[in-house]
Amino acid sequence: MEKWKTQVLPPDEANIRLAAELLNQGEVVGFPTETVYGLAANAFDPQAVAKIFAAKGRPQDNPLIVHIASMEMLPPLVKDPPALAFQLAEKFWPGPMTMILPRSERLGDEVSAGLPTVGIRYPSSPTAQKMILASQLPLAAPSGNLSGHPSPTTAAHMLHDMDTHIPLIIDGGECQVGLESTVIQVMEDRVRLLRPGGITVEMLEEICPVEIDQGVLHAVDANAKVASPGMKYRHYAPIAEVTIVEGELPAFQKYMESVKGDGVYAMVFDGEEDGLCVPTLPFGQSGQPETQAHRLFDLLRQCDDLGAKKVFVRSPDRHGIGLAVYNRLLRAAAFRIVKLDDRKD
Ligand code: AMP
Ligand code: MG
Repeated sequence: MEKWKTQVLPPDEANIRLAAELLNQGEVVGFPTETVYGLAANAFDPQAVAKIFAAKGRPQDNPLIVHIASMEMLPPLVKDPPALAFQLAEKFWPGPMTMILPRSERLGDEVSAGLPTVGIRYPSSPTAQKMILASQLPLAAPSGNLSGHPSPTTAAHMLHDMDTHIPLIIDGGECQVGLESTVIQVMEDRVRLLRPGGITVEMLEEICPVEIDQGVLHAVDANAKVASPGMKYRHYAPIAEVTIVEGELPAFQKYMESVKGDGVYAMVFDGEEDGLCVPTLPFGQSGQPETQAHRLFDLLRQCDDLGAKKVFVRSPDRHGIGLAVYNRLLRAAAFRIVKLDDRKD
């Protein structure tokens, strides 16, 4: 693979133009979106798309999402999308929602990993939109982390994973949402949720019925044929062993006494730091899943920086974007959950 001196540049006009030139030359560029940082290339260029898989070490059977910045960019990418797709686009685009739609012949097999469908998203990040419009290309882009690592929510995270792999990262600051987009398969009269995100089940249900794929909350076998190949892989994982702990705070405090030791950390809600016998990581306010979403991937990366060996996490609420927080934590924890008995006897 080619070695680069990776530049990190602010999103001014000259740098956006530089990014657009690189993209038109078939190179891969890092870009900020409202969800996480992405690793972008021309969706119509199979060789450029192959460079994304190489830079990330991404399994070949895990398809990419194609990013657009106007509704005019949609027709060349898809074939006969259901009317419901336009209703959802009207309501939630630009924004953190990816729709899986029938793929047009103009897109190569590489983007979709051979599937007859393609994931499309119209991001709301102004920098992402500018890069798409300046390059005049639909941009295939997965999250800009090495495969298996937590997704990057800052340019520094992305540089950590992609240094020397790509020529340029456009630095747009911290990502607003902090978790990857909601992925839905769109049918005639309903949608199937493949990955929860910033557009929540409750929001989607205002438009149509929502089926929740079982991969959202359950482990998927590595050899299984699944609706969304990304669900199979261990994901978002720091080096430390992560465990989700369900139960009330007093039971959690007591439990930590039994597991404390060198390299053991607790990820707790704001205000819960006192009364714990191990160092804590701040997981945001209880009942405010937006702040938890915004912080989660940075915290998981901090675990590596701290040399954490074991991290015990207070189980988050699952309403709204909390379902997405829980879904990512489940994978970071490889589905390791401890259920505490809260009875006081
Ligand atoms: P990432 O871009 O790294 O956030 O990953 C994209 C996610 O969308 C992965 O979980 C993919 O498996 C999923 N995805 C992308 N395209 C499709 C598709 N055509 N059908 C099903 N899932 C898809
Ligand atoms: Mg990813």
